[in-house]
Amino acid sequence: MFPSPLFGAIEAGGTKFVLGVGTGPEDMRETTRIETDTRSTPSSEILAKVTAWFQEAESRHGKLAAIGVGTFGPAGVNPAAADYGYITTTPKPLWANTDVLGALRRVFPVPMGFDTDVNAAALGEWRWGAGQGCGTLLYLTVGTGIGGGALVRGRPLHGLLHPEMGHLRIPRAAGDTFEGVCPWHGDCLEGMANGPAMEKRWGVKASTLPPDHGAWEMEAHYLACACVNFLMTLSPERCIIGGGVTQNNHLLPRVRAKCAALVNHYLAHPVLAGGLENWLVAPGLGTRSGLLGALALAQEALAAAGTKV
Ligand code: ADP
Ligand code: ZN
Repeated sequence: MFPSPLFGAIEAGGTKFVLGVGTGPEDMRETTRIETDTRSTPSSEILAKVTAWFQEAESRHGKLAAIGVGTFGPAGVNPAAADYGYITTTPKPLWANTDVLGALRRVFPVPMGFDTDVNAAALGEWRWGAGQGCGTLLYLTVGTGIGGGALVRGRPLHGLLHPEMGHLRIPRAAGDTFEGVCPWHGDCLEGMANGPAMEKRWGVKASTLPPDHGAWEMEAHYLACACVNFLMTLSPERCIIGGGVTQNNHLLPRVRAKCAALVNHYLAHPVLAGGLENWLVAPGLGTRSGLLGALALAQEALAAAGTKV
């Protein structure tokens, strides 16, 4: 029997890169985390650390057969475009127009997959987590930023560029006068509802706000509006919500209740019955959706290169 191919996975975030090598979700051999202040550290410095870690990991575990990257964006995700594999127009000057795949290819001549962090997470959840069996699936993360990825008929959704679901326009919660924290739009979804917005609006870290604080009803309003918009546009079979802000057991039920109230029985489907428990769900892979999604991208890249996985 041939050994299973070994994959490299990269979850590239604005505050940290998470790297892993493994053959699959049950066999992640080694992971590491590289803190990345992308505002002060040049991309070349971080990418040099990334390639060095994978070279060391190869010496311990064997050669990588393929690498997958799920990245913060905006990023070039169209394989036919000149900017494929790049982090493109990010406002972080030290990271704008960074050829991520190019830097990896110079060291590892193997097939590579590249997509947004949230499309990768959607793919990971679809393969191994809470999105199994869904043809059309949405994954939303609510953390330092807000981002959404989608699979349509099992394929990551791209278009002109790629979806930027964090920047939806959402009606304000009644009485909310907060200006928002998005540098481009102020009061878009991300500007009103990411972790830093909660912290700035309430003056304390979101993780310290007690469950009975009004902050959570307001947060649920913004997330429920977003979920209804996704339901009405993409009609995903399931909507998965993860990220730091959702790391408690009271936010999701609030979002479900507000979402159901906004839908107001307009749509009928068994999956939407019973208070949306089966439609609006937490990630099945916990906090590993992004990294395992990157591994899934690597597996797909190897398969596409004609090698049987
Ligand atoms: P990132 O988005 O940077 O990948 P996370 O998904 O962990 O990372 O999100 C970090 C954000 O989530 C921070 O703004 C933090 O304040 C917030 N956060 C972390 N834990 C909690 C919690 N238990 N409750 C609410 N907010 C939290
Ligand atoms: Zn915005």
